Amino acid sequence: MSTSTINTNPQFPNNKTSMLGMVGGGQLGRMFVHEAQALGFKVMVLEPEAGSPAAHAADGHIQAAYDDASGLQQLAAACTSFTTEFENVPAASLAKLAETGFVAPSAACVSIAQDRIEEKAFFTRCAPQTDILPAPHAILRTADDLEKVSADLFPGILKTARMGYDGKGQVRVKSMEELRTAFDNLKGVVCVLEKMLPLAYEISVLVARGADGQAVVYPIAENVHRDGILFTTTVPSPHVSEQAALKTQNAALKLIADIDYVGVLCIEFFVLEDGSVVVNEMAPRPHNSGHYTIDACVTSQFAQQVRAMARLPLGDVRQHSPCVMLNILGDIWFDDVEQNTERQPAWDKVLALPSAHLHLYGKSEARRARKMGHITFIAPTLEQAQDEMRQACAILGIEV
Ligand code: ATP
Ligand code: MG
Repeated sequence: MSTSTINTNPQFPNNKTSMLGMVGGGQLGRMFVHEAQALGFKVMVLEPEAGSPAAHAADGHIQAAYDDASGLQQLAAACTSFTTEFENVPAASLAKLAETGFVAPSAACVSIAQDRIEEKAFFTRCAPQTDILPAPHAILRTADDLEKVSADLFPGILKTARMGYDGKGQVRVKSMEELRTAFDNLKGVVCVLEKMLPLAYEISVLVARGADGQAVVYPIAENVHRDGILFTTTVPSPHVSEQAALKTQNAALKLIADIDYVGVLCIEFFVLEDGSVVVNEMAPRPHNSGHYTIDACVTSQFAQQVRAMARLPLGDVRQHSPCVMLNILGDIWFDDVEQNTERQPAWDKVLALPSAHLHLYGKSEARRARKMGHITFIAPTLEQAQDEMRQACAILGIEV
């Protein structure tokens, strides 16, 4: 079917075309389902795993691989617009869905974010407009490329070009020798070696753009990572200067417009010790650092995703309460590192804290380093939110 037959008029909830298609079944998909249903839409999820967080909440589940022809056909038959919650969904699947419906973000946009090499090339191409570059880096496709690596990139971080998340697929290397070993261990996977930068702090900028080209940008979120996984997000950012905030927000708006992106996009930046700003990576979907928007903003990032794909106006991004978001990993279900005895976190005590909004993703099994949920602390002052976040950490046995 030619793309010209695709209906790009607004899609309204509560009628016979109100089913939205979601590729991916994780927690981001689940929170999308909640917002879609709040607006009166139904959601069909395509996800190979049984009992996924999104499928539990959705109106329908097609259990098939993201690139399964019959699964994609079923999804295409049920829905006229599609989105994704996972950037490693094959771009070809999104392109297939675009033959019969409206896909936001497009396969072309998602494919940039799927590959660190393309992503860095995109950031570099836009640098004349944004005035922000990615970290100095080298592309490593074969062992020969190692010989050309500048000594200036050490100490560095070797990252696989594709399929990385939550610090997976990353190795820190101090020398050429360590780089050789690490690259060999990855067995021919294309990588990027990035110079390790002196980070003062990390921020992310969440932007959304509608099908009409109107874009909105959320306040700067300040992120603390532990072992490569997001630990907390604090908004407003305690450290960011007004100048750095404006610079990164403007950059995010330029980047999202440059590729005619429709949907929610999150861009991660590093602020270095000398105050300069470096762009790290982008996620073509709602982001963990934007979970705070559910409780602290007029319109959540998931509601924006629904609105963008349905060609409806985007909502107000205004934050009404200072907040801290704390990620809940599977580790707290285990009493002791050695014994691995299971326990139940004391949610009753956490929920007794007035500012705590608990979100659990309904995952059946807790595993170490697995994202099980998050808590957003919203309070009249940031100090109060931070204080209750620390109290919750004490209750849950999380070191602050
Ligand atoms: P996620 O998908 O969770 O954002 P990821 O696996 O895609 O993570 P990155 O965002 O590239 O990985 O890196 C994870 C974290 O590692 C960063 O948030 C930062 O704390 C640290 N890090 C990454 N690159 C660098 C760098 N060049 N210099 C210093 N620290 C870095
Ligand atoms: Mg990251």
